[in-house]
Amino acid sequence: MKNILTIDVESWIHFSDALTDGKTIPDPLSRKALDGGHLRYALEQTLEILDRSGNRATFFVLGELLQWDPDILEEIRRRGHEVGYHGHSHRMIDTPETLERELELSKNFIDRFRPVGFRAPRLFLSPPAMETLRSRGFIYSSSSYGPWESGTEINGVREIPISTLRWIPGPAKPQVLPRPLSPSLLFKEIPFGSGRGAGLLGGATSFFIRKANRRKHPAVIMLHPWQLFPPEEMTGWKFKFNILSKHTMFMPYAFSRAGALRKLVAGHKFISFLESIK
Ligand SMILES: [Zn+2]
Repeated sequence: MKNILTIDVESWIHFSDALTDGKTIPDPLSRKALDGGHLRYALEQTLEILDRSGNRATFFVLGELLQWDPDILEEIRRRGHEVGYHGHSHRMIDTPETLERELELSKNFIDRFRPVGFRAPRLFLSPPAMETLRSRGFIYSSSSYGPWESGTEINGVREIPISTLRWIPGPAKPQVLPRPLSPSLLFKEIPFGSGRGAGLLGGATSFFIRKANRRKHPAVIMLHPWQLFPPEEMTGWKFKFNILSKHTMFMPYAFSRAGALRKLVAGHKFISFLESIK
């Protein structure tokens, strides 16, 4: 069975901003300078792994990266992957108006890549924002967590959740947004497709993909370039101590997961969302 691989294209700077809850977000040019070319390096390595194994993915890209490095974004498309949209600057989409503003800021990116798929930053999206997406030509979103069979159409846009596996199988209810990671979700489901899931499970994610496939469902997996190829700033003891002491929920991101991706693409077949819904 073909599974769906998704990469949220953002710098470790955007992740580090999530740790401070957006309070220290520097301006776009400072963000690019702080990244120091690491995003390009991590993407080149990721593309190589996918090419060599003959797998394809959906890359949900932040609009502001068009100003950082248009060539690497073109390279994603040139190699046959899907380019989706991940907001402009990784701002949380708390209202449809926020989404409108982000789309305006990303005008050049949207005109150039014409994305039809959306992933909300921090996996937070409410139903009214779906109407905005539909009016801008988006046909699907993958901005929540849930079992495959809970995927549903909301205000004209298909919501396809990042994979979870229910502890107790049974009929699934249609997805209700927003549905980010929460303690109540963990009580019912294992979010093995999430970045944190892969961070914790590594190559063992394979076990859950097989389990989903046995239930006749493709798995939807999400990863980040900075978790596959972490920069020096994320591999030192200082970062790990900070994560463990202050941001325990982000602990799975303290592990480098390029090895896990190599294992997953060797053992499973991955395609993009666009290919899967055609
Ligand atoms: Zn993100």
